[in-house]
Amino acid sequence: RAKTDGRGIFRVYSPEMGNKMRRYHYLLEELRLAISSNSFHMSFQPIVHVEDCAIDYFEALIRWQHPIEGLIPPSEFIPIAEESNLILELGDWILLESCRQMSAWHNAGMKKVKISVNVSGIQLKHRDIYNWVMDSLNKTGLPASSLMLEITESTLITASEDIIQQLDSCRKAGVSVAIDDFGTGFSSLSTLADLPIDVIKIDKLFITQANENPKYLKILNSISELGHQLGLKIVAEGVEQIDQFELVKNLGIRCVQGYLVSRPETSYNVGSKVLTGNVNHIATTGTSVWLP
Ligand code: C2E
Ligand code: MG
Ligand code: MG
Ligand code: MG
Repeated sequence: RAKTDGRGIFRVYSPEMGNKMRRYHYLLEELRLAISSNSFHMSFQPIVHVEDCAIDYFEALIRWQHPIEGLIPPSEFIPIAEESNLILELGDWILLESCRQMSAWHNAGMKKVKISVNVSGIQLKHRDIYNWVMDSLNKTGLPASSLMLEITESTLITASEDIIQQLDSCRKAGVSVAIDDFGTGFSSLSTLADLPIDVIKIDKLFITQANENPKYLKILNSISELGHQLGLKIVAEGVEQIDQFELVKNLGIRCVQGYLVSRPETSYNVGSKVLTGNVNHIATTGTSVWLP
């Protein structure tokens, strides 16, 4: 919006817009540098079964430790990486690194746990997804059945027929697919039946609101019911409090992810054994990280 500063000079950008653009271009340049110098690491957050809090799988979440800015959250830099297509190069590293880490944990004895990797719409569009996934599995020796791809609802419902088929090929090879942030993407519940998915991750908005707002509780209830009827696994995201945990459990939802159980970490205390991102200490499947 053009405006005058009172001296007859027109400005196209407000100071606030200018700041946002400077920040954007600064981060874009820093992102390029960070990719070439490999300044990222992965953190891992467990998704656990409600009955015994045994780990079902880990979600891989990228972390960027900037030398001056400190930790920059993915919610700030992933959109920039997507707009600039830098997510392609970064995403190649994310998948390979996540598979490598899980393969190392498998070899250290944690056999049954899977790794789940976020994949953006830009990657689905520009990468030959089936070959891309198989390549990382082959390079790291991770079995296909130990990998899950997380794709947001809004990306999945706008995906082309070709992308849907590639995802289905991945599933036929044993890879799982989860619909992420479900409930925020405005798809109808009936589309769930047609999507190539195994897991529904219900957005944390519904978990946060459920105890205060009966409408959210009803939606949560119907997602859970329909999901189970379709044979899908349901995960509740963003469980921070014990009453949210109980609520979700009473709705029949079998898996939870959230700060109540564990924040994303690069190392874990699992029972008496330590699970570390860099050093391969041993963790056993079925060990509880937290008990209600
Ligand atoms: P997401 O895929 O929905 O990941 C879950 C986010 O919720 C993570 O935030 C996680 O730390 C956070 N979370 C987990 N439990 C709780 C809780 O109890 N309370 C609250 N308030 N938050 C919780 P994070 O790591 O900051 O990532 C944010 C988003 O950035 C992710 O949302 C995902 O969309 C994107 N992202 C993160 N890592 C990657 C990546 O490696 N690749 C891509 N393409 N996107 C990523
Ligand atoms: Mg996710
Ligand atoms: Mg999510
Ligand atoms: Mg999210």
